[in-house]
Amino acid sequence: MSGHEYGAGPVAALRRIAFLLERGREDTYKVKAFRAAAAAILPLSEHELRARVADGTLTELAGVGSSTATVITEALAGGVPKRLADVECEHGGPLTDKGHDLRARLKGDLHSHSDWSDGGSPIEEMAFTAMELGHEYLVLTDHSPRLKVAHGLSAERLTKQLGVVDAVNEHIATGSMSGAGGFTLLKGIEVDILDDGRLDQTDAMLDRLDLRVASVHSKLAMEKAAMTKRMVTAVSTTRMNVLGHCTGRLVTGNRGTRPGSAFDARAVFSACAEHGVAVEINSRPERRDPPTTLMELARDLGCLFSIDSDAHAPGQLDFLVLGCERAEAAGIEPDRIVNTWSRERLLAWANG
Ligand SMILES: [Zn+2]
Ligand SMILES: [Zn+2]
Repeated sequence: MSGHEYGAGPVAALRRIAFLLERGREDTYKVKAFRAAAAAILPLSEHELRARVADGTLTELAGVGSSTATVITEALAGGVPKRLADVECEHGGPLTDKGHDLRARLKGDLHSHSDWSDGGSPIEEMAFTAMELGHEYLVLTDHSPRLKVAHGLSAERLTKQLGVVDAVNEHIATGSMSGAGGFTLLKGIEVDILDDGRLDQTDAMLDRLDLRVASVHSKLAMEKAAMTKRMVTAVSTTRMNVLGHCTGRLVTGNRGTRPGSAFDARAVFSACAEHGVAVEINSRPERRDPPTTLMELARDLGCLFSIDSDAHAPGQLDFLVLGCERAEAAGIEPDRIVNTWSRERLLAWANG
């Protein structure tokens, strides 16, 4: 990604730094300054920015501090800002050696979060970055109401969000974004699977969406038989399309580690295969979910898969190659991975 959507210049430089820091899993607070500064200067003319450089008043803009002012000044001078060169060096390399062939076949991403729930960036920034990565579609899947720690969306807020998604798509379609190549932001949700296997949103609301990821986020340590029943019920009786991070395990990262939930994987994946629910290969480095043996079991039982970033920041949309590496290693045929499909085929499947 080059940040070319805004042309070379200070906004592109600031966005690229933020993208790379997020992709390198740096803490959000380190990234925020760059995103805030990019947003602060986006409405300003180059003439005004140059005038502010000349009289030293860049930092009087809300959102611009001394380090971001340096990036802006160096970008306006026509070179690559030093901070960008450093971050490019530290975080710009390939995330893996393998998985790139499969990654090239992915047309989009079915699992992403904006700052409407627990993501760090606005909806449009997620969409623009997905476009820059060459996606044909990105499904916006903010959390459902019961996940209060993540500011899960009530039906009312989700309804409002659908209007914003329409507006973003309209903006893209009117051609103000160059190279838009038919990108669409799709309407989705990551809906909680409740203790009894129902979903944490009304059917009427779920019907208004393009695609539904459903995940277990609570009582992960539930007893095996109960967890199996909970998951099989959700897979077999609801409008869900994708089973998100099925074990809930954490293998690394600043949230610590935890073991995966116990459930009868053969029963759950058989239900997925029977009902056409895709098993998510969650690309987040701290999840790597499902574990390899479960992924191979789902493969052998004939399941569909989706390889998702579960991005909570724009730069994390680039995590997909990590899931691709694992899917390739497990020998999963690309045509069973639903996000190798065209948007039309994907939507027909999700709403069939
Ligand atoms: Zn989740
Ligand atoms: Zn998620």
